[in-house]
Amino acid sequence: MSARILVVDDILPNVKLLEAKLSAEYFDVMVAHDGFQALDLVQKDHPDLILLDVMMPGMDGFEVCRRLKADPKVTHIPVVMVTALSESADRVHGLEAGADDFLTKPVDDIALFARVRSLVRLKMMMDELRLREQTSNNLAMVDPVGSEIEQDVRSARILVVEDVKAVADRIVAACDGAYQVTVEPAVGEAMTLARSGDFDLVITSLNLNGSDGLRFCSQLRAVEETRQIPILILVEEADRKRLAKGLELGVSDYLLRPVDRNELLARVKTQVRRKRYQDRLHANFHRSMAMAVTDALTGLFNRRYMTGHLDTLIARAGPGVRGLSLLVLDIDHFKAVNDTHGHAVGDEVLREFGGRVSRSVRGIDLACRYGGEEFVVVMPETELAVARKVAERLCRHVAEEAFIVKGGDLALPITCSVGVAAWRAEESGEALLKRADDALYVAKREGRNRVTVAE
Ligand code: GH3
Ligand code: MG
Ligand code: MG
Repeated sequence: MSARILVVDDILPNVKLLEAKLSAEYFDVMVAHDGFQALDLVQKDHPDLILLDVMMPGMDGFEVCRRLKADPKVTHIPVVMVTALSESADRVHGLEAGADDFLTKPVDDIALFARVRSLVRLKMMMDELRLREQTSNNLAMVDPVGSEIEQDVRSARILVVEDVKAVADRIVAACDGAYQVTVEPAVGEAMTLARSGDFDLVITSLNLNGSDGLRFCSQLRAVEETRQIPILILVEEADRKRLAKGLELGVSDYLLRPVDRNELLARVKTQVRRKRYQDRLHANFHRSMAMAVTDALTGLFNRRYMTGHLDTLIARAGPGVRGLSLLVLDIDHFKAVNDTHGHAVGDEVLREFGGRVSRSVRGIDLACRYGGEEFVVVMPETELAVARKVAERLCRHVAEEAFIVKGGDLALPITCSVGVAAWRAEESGEALLKRADDALYVAKREGRNRVTVAE
């Protein structure tokens, strides 16, 4: 995994050192020597990650970070503060400015690469989701999600997996009122809870009595239902090696013991926000996927989806195929409905027509609005004779009962014409549709409100 990393430091040897380490691991490195230059470069080049020195003349790292995080165009780029200060107060200060993590000088290689890799991996995934979100927004399909820092973290649910009661109690006390916390000392139980509950964060320890905290983390990552839950892990200074392993496994963030309350809260908030952001991006993506294959007026599948589906069915059809038939339906004299009663009534008729079609076919049949007042039903495993019966039944269902529109004020008699065709070996989906459409044309010519079968 390669990525472009911006190193910001006012002291040249520091820059050179980080640059050498990162380049040796094949990262693409850019450098800036003060805050202003850094802001400039970020705007121009959008790096994948920023390693930011805290103490710099002119504008310190906190201020640079605050400005980056306030700019919607670059707010998603992860920032790691590199600081000589190991004071917790500074860490909290930085987290409040929006920093994603900290490294302490002199920079330890394991911590550096673990953090860089996990943040870059996260960013790449989020970039992909954001791109899809952008497309959906451009098509005005979904409500925009906003940025990560705008996410509401209230009433987030946290699962604390900790067997030392005093530690668990301290976490519960720190989160009191802000979050809903569930404590579970046993790893097996915790896994069950995590899979069934809707948690926004798991907090656990690297060392759990009698079980390996890392194994628990890897289990969380291995299972579909828990893969996306962020993990915050508590570690001892002496455990850095295993921490690096944890970050590689997908642990999202860590806290050094003894746990500082403010730092805990700041890190929890960052993780929960990110989780909610990701959840909303995912939800929007699924919604826009559904919308991309659906006709907005009738809720039936759209033409694009139907033709894709038809091609798939045909590609799959082997010698043993038990028939594949298709209906093309067209409302008779629909233009007159619009002309007499208005477009809105026309829409109501289309909606009701779509409903009657989809209620008259089987689950494996695919009903689609082909366009305008034309509909298509694709029927797998259906012989021509059966398809004809279905078409006749549909025709009756439409003609039998008037369409009630305008909230019950108007009852319109509606009829439709249907063309039926069965797939022939070697025939393309397009050719099949064409034959059904030709049959429909014959039905129209012969007087409408009828079914014609393609020869
Ligand atoms: P025929 O019996 O030969 O099919 O006649 P027709 O009037 O149904 O067919 P024609 O193709 O002449 O007219 C179709 C009309 O459907 C014209 C178009 O304005 C209308 N239409 C297409 N899409 C919509 C829509 O989404 N809503 C409404 N209300 N009308 C639509
Ligand atoms: Mg028509
Ligand atoms: Mg038409």
